[in-house]
Amino acid sequence: MLRLQGINAVIAVLVAFVVLHLVFVPEQHSIRTTFSTLLGGTSFLLMTWSVVLATRLEIFEEMFGGLDRMYQVHRVAGTFTAVFALVHFFSIPKELPAGVDPVLNSTFPSAQIGMAAMVLLVIGLFVALNRKISYSRWRNPHKVMAFVYILVIGHFMNAPGIFFEQFSAAGILLIVAGLIGMIALVYTMFGMNKRTAKHFTIEAVNSLERATEVVLKPVGDMLKFKPGQFAFVEIQGKDWSEPHPFTIASAPDEDRLRFTMKVLGDWTRKVREELQPGGEVVVRGPYGRFDASKTSSKRQVWIAGGIGLTPFLSKLRAMDEEDNREVHFAYAARNKEEAIFIEELEAIATDRHNITIYPLFSDEGDFARIDVAKQKLPDPLTDYEYFICGPKPMVEGLMKDLKKEGVKRKAIHVEAFEFR
Ligand SMILES: Cc1cc2nc3c(=O)[nH]c(=O)nc-3n(C[C@H](O)[C@H](O)[C@H](O)COP(=O)(O)OP(=O)(O)OC[C@H]3O[C@@H](n4cnc5c(N)ncnc54)[C@H](O)[C@@H]3O)c2cc1C
Repeated sequence: MLRLQGINAVIAVLVAFVVLHLVFVPEQHSIRTTFSTLLGGTSFLLMTWSVVLATRLEIFEEMFGGLDRMYQVHRVAGTFTAVFALVHFFSIPKELPAGVDPVLNSTFPSAQIGMAAMVLLVIGLFVALNRKISYSRWRNPHKVMAFVYILVIGHFMNAPGIFFEQFSAAGILLIVAGLIGMIALVYTMFGMNKRTAKHFTIEAVNSLERATEVVLKPVGDMLKFKPGQFAFVEIQGKDWSEPHPFTIASAPDEDRLRFTMKVLGDWTRKVREELQPGGEVVVRGPYGRFDASKTSSKRQVWIAGGIGLTPFLSKLRAMDEEDNREVHFAYAARNKEEAIFIEELEAIATDRHNITIYPLFSDEGDFARIDVAKQKLPDPLTDYEYFICGPKPMVEGLMKDLKKEGVKRKAIHVEAFEFR
């Protein structure tokens, strides 16, 4: 779940800027200049948040509720960065006010730099939002945004004093943000945002229905993680492109690391068709905060759609004897064949009095929906805490309906299998 702490921090910085900008507004400013520079500054601060979140630091995972949430905020902040920059560009007065010295206030090269940054930003936004461009094609060009960030700093630091006063309160805030952003940028660009690598050899590659289970044996230390966390998997070898994120499906005390990968695109297809035991894999992590053991409620509903099963697999495999949570687990799949690991799950549920499994097969007309939950759960929906992972439409539909039924937002935890 997206945590308020992070969102509050983003809002606090923006509000501080808006207040400082409006309270100490220079006398020569027209309303239009004040408005336009306000948008320019806000756009820059949002971009700085995007840059800072790309550091993947644990402290931000704690504040925002996991890396997947950080990337959601990164994406939204990036979108508003471009929109505000556009409005800033079109609203900024093109002429200096009467009486302002044009030499002292030369707009060169600020305007040109700003224009270049804005064009790149808008192209970047278009590419990022265009789902037809695959993740691997988008990933490297997206790094141009680091250069755009530097351009934006160049733009406002060179802006005429009438538009940007370096020693005003709002100006100092932007400069400090810029310094933090530059440190974050260097940190990320030099790969320091990657968590420690753990080395593994591939022990088994098991074909499942539309998915592949990859079993890894540690070469040195085992990766430490909590059930529900994920890691970046880097298969070694020149044909294996960039790291891909996968939830760890094994339990933390197992001596092997297991991932279950749905066949979706080129990379996951290659895993299924070409990956062989004996190869080397680097795993970096753990990331994420989809942890059901830490919450206040002992009465939990888990809902998995398709491959959204993986975080729950780890949670179930990790459950110890003393765990007395009451878990109602709805596992939605197209049919029994696609409900991978259903036998293992049912065996766990048979062994334990506190877990009930509800397989829901859409081919048989059963879906993960609120009316179904109402029928199956022994008590009102508001008595439980919810953990949901699955396809976006399913997750969004369930969240909307749960809120309608009076379930509080903080009692709903969602894992997104998506960064971009
Ligand atoms: C936190 C998290 C946990 C996940 N856990 C699982 C899991 O347990 N099992 C599972 O099957 N899938 C999981 N996924 C999804 C998995 O990462 C993608 O399905 C996989 O990377 C697709 O790669 P592809 O090239 O085969 O498919 P493509 O068709 O190229 O990509 C499909 C989608 O996957 C995403 N994606 C692709 N490559 C990357 C990448 N290198 N980094 C980040 N995202 C990428 C993009 O959103 C893309 O739109 C998880 C994703 C995230 C973010």
